Amino acid sequence: YQAKGSRSGIARYDACRDTFDVGKLALVGELRRAIESGELELHYQPKAELRTGRLCAVEALVRWRHPRRGVLPPDAFLPAAEQTGLIDPLTRWVLAAALAQITVWAGAFDDLTMAVNVSARNLARPDFADAVLAALSDAGIAPGRLTLEITETALLADPEVAADVLARLSATGVRVSIDDFGQGQTSLGYLSRLPLHELKIDRSFVTDLADNPAHAAIVRSVVDLGHNLGLQVVAEGVESRETVELLTATGCDIAQGFLLARPMPPGDLADWVAAHRTDVLTADR
Ligand code: C2E
Ligand code: MG
Ligand code: MG
Ligand code: MG
Repeated sequence: YQAKGSRSGIARYDACRDTFDVGKLALVGELRRAIESGELELHYQPKAELRTGRLCAVEALVRWRHPRRGVLPPDAFLPAAEQTGLIDPLTRWVLAAALAQITVWAGAFDDLTMAVNVSARNLARPDFADAVLAALSDAGIAPGRLTLEITETALLADPEVAADVLARLSATGVRVSIDDFGQGQTSLGYLSRLPLHELKIDRSFVTDLADNPAHAAIVRSVVDLGHNLGLQVVAEGVESRETVELLTATGCDIAQGFLLARPMPPGDLADWVAAHRTDVLTADR
């Protein structure tokens, strides 16, 4: 199976992945149904401003409530979805559900942005921009409230198409974030040509920040790089108070991680927000 002509670079991307086995094929058949039958759900993890402790965004993270296998994490089914093209309906479902959630929450969530993760194959499709804009207009949500999180790997599937798609979306106000920054192989020249708003430092550099001088140096440098490019810098994988203090000292803008909160179902998140809206970084939990 090949998504597009070899020019696209998709073939190169797929070659890095596992080949199919029978178990995976069964899973793919089930996933196709799962998308339609409501077995997918989104959990939401807060992002908070380091300077003020204020909640500023939530990231939607997909789970599959499988009838026999229990709740499956994204890593268990997203690679297969990418390989088969099921990622296109899956991402459409995620976008629609995350944007609908903004309206359900309303009120206390009015100044939050919603972050949605986007896969390589989504971004390699020129019509992806239309799909995102249709989802926003169907949900009646302003484009500026949506952040698309994109890994460097996802950009490399087809860098030209990805740049075009992001330029179109960014022109409407959609925000663009580079996820897991520092893990990939995108050139800084290419990144500097993209219409970016946010850099998320990969959690492998953040979690052990206090004990790893090399990672501390990388975090400081990425914060400077991001700020010099005019971007907001997010640290993911924040698990300790010490890390919060070090990040604050570097001038990092936003924190996300288990210290603040784990990803939660929407009802739990609403309760959590009511309790921690302005003191996300300081309250006892
Ligand atoms: P990501 O976008 O980098 O999301 C962050 C992942 O790190 C999440 O795992 C989250 O639960 C986890 N995490 C958050 N804080 C901490 C922390 O303090 N420590 C540690 N150790 N981990 C933390 P999750 O939900 O399993 O998602 C894994 C990846 O799957 C995501 O990484 C993202 O690349 C992908 N993904 C998740 N949902 C979607 C989706 O709806 N669409 C697409 N295309 N990809 C998704
Ligand atoms: Mg993400
Ligand atoms: Mg990440
Ligand atoms: Mg990740």
